[in-house]
Order: sequence, then C-alpha cells, then structure tokens
Amino acid sequence: MAKKLFVGVDIGGTNIKSALVENGKIKKKRKLPTKANLGPERVIVQIKSAIKPFITKAAGIGIGIAGIIDSQKGIVRFSPNLSEWHNIKLVKALKKEFNKPVRIINDVNAICLGEWQYGAAKGYKNVFLFTLGTGVGGAAICEGVPLFGANGFSGEFGHSVIKFNGPKCSCGNYGCLERYVGAKYIVANAKRKMRKKITSLKNYKKLTPHIIAQEAKKGDKVSKEVFTEIGFYIGIGVSNIIALFDPDVVIISGGVSRAGRILFEPIRKTVRKRVLGAEHRNYKIIPGKLGDDAGVLGAVYFASGLTSR
Ligand SMILES: [Zn+2]
Repeated sequence: MAKKLFVGVDIGGTNIKSALVENGKIKKKRKLPTKANLGPERVIVQIKSAIKPFITKAAGIGIGIAGIIDSQKGIVRFSPNLSEWHNIKLVKALKKEFNKPVRIINDVNAICLGEWQYGAAKGYKNVFLFTLGTGVGGAAICEGVPLFGANGFSGEFGHSVIKFNGPKCSCGNYGCLERYVGAKYIVANAKRKMRKKITSLKNYKKLTPHIIAQEAKKGDKVSKEVFTEIGFYIGIGVSNIIALFDPDVVIISGGVSRAGRILFEPIRKTVRKRVLGAEHRNYKIIPGKLGDDAGVLGAVYFASGLTSR
C-alpha cells in the first residue's frame, strides 16, 4: 500500500469526526457538531469545515455515513439521523469544493472495514460485525471480500427478526433485534423491572445503557438481569449469523459493547446452546478494538481504492 495521506470522515447524528490518516494510523483529529436538524446544506458546510484543515496534504477523502448509501453514484439516498437527507449528491458537492477524489460508504461498513484491516478482525476472512447503540447495525466480510449486497444495503442485522410476532419496530417490521437491544429499549426494559424491585438504578434521574452496565458491574441485581437479557437477544442474533455464514469472528462494537463480560458471557452462552454444531466450530465473539476510530480508518481504506465498489 502506498503511504498516502487521506482524510477520513465519520458523520454521526450529533458529531462529525474527521482525521488525517496515513497507512491506517491517525495523525490528527477533529470533531464538530453535525447540526443535523438544520438540513443538508448546513450539514454539508459542517462536513467541509471538518475536512478543510487536513485537505492540502491529502490524496483523497473517505466518508462513512449512516443510512442507505449509494457508494457507486456517490449519493446519500437516505440517512435516518440527518433531517431531510434524501438523494443528496454528497460526493459531487465535496469534489467541487476540494477537487480531490471522494468516496462515501455506509458507516457500519466503514467500521467493519476498519476493524478488519487494523483492529479486532485483522487477518480473518469471514468477519461479521454488530454495532450496538441507538440503533443496531451490521456489516460483513465474506471469504476476504467486503459484502455490500446487490444494492449496497446488506448487513441490516438489527432488523433481522428474532420474534416474528414481537413488538413493532421503527422500520415497520415486527420483533426485530433492534427492538430488544437498541439503547432506548434497554432503558425501557430497566425501567419496567425497576417498578417492582429494589435497585440502585433508582438513584439516577436519567438512565442510559452505560449507567445500567456500571451498576450491573457493582452487583445490582436488576441491572445484571437487564444485561443477561440483552446478551440473550444478541446471542440469538449472533446464532443466526453463525448458522448462516460460519464466520471466523463476530465483532460486537458500539457503545453498549463496552459493558464487557456482563454482556459477552450471556451472548456466548446463548450461541453455545443455539447453534448447530457449535462445539465443532472455530469461532470467536469479541469486542471491537478501535472504538470511535474504526469508522474513519475504514472510510479511508475504502477511499484509498483497496476495495471494489
Ligand atoms: Zn426493524
């Protein structure tokens, strides 16, 4: 790989993270507010500001962004976190501004590429990655090739169904994995349990999955119960993936994954019980390694032309 500098950008609903990257290493970083509620034009101004300080040295720009992303045409078809983003020609706008090659990719695909090239999945050929946060995302590398799907929309593990007659999900389907382990459902589940039981969670005005994880580690029973359940549901999702694709490694990344053992133990236990021939398979279920840097590193890897599409 040529030692070229690239700008990597990770566009989230709250912040835009940008970095100057050389050969998988971050040289400099920047973070700006996305201003997602102000519409596409204003957000594009923010994206340009995030790129600008790094651009003179860079050979190109790689961008990870949530939603339905048409990488080939450089168009953001739809982004759930950004208001009014429909068919936005992001690549065209940035090429016009900076006159350098620009590639865009779905944010979870970028994270998966990052972990595969530089992080927890380095050296593996069959990699499946879940991201746990407000939503539940997914992406895959199959036989050493990133899986984008016919339309570039593959990997919606969060919207695979784990209970066919379960509660309605924001996507319109019923019983999706995200409907059980998305951040707000984790909090809702904890609140339901709190009503009837003694728990240290009652000391908090506002609950988050992070707080529930901290209390679980301190020994709070209700919090532990919540994480055992989350682990079980994710375990069902992971079991389906292992049964379908027989991966070397399943990476669980995103904020909720930082809970550590209290999450991974029930996931692994569920997989051992549920997957056909689990005892004969070689697989790992492990956390991501790169944290918040995975997205920009993966976007740069994609932009530097090392993967097709
Ligand atoms: Zn859904």
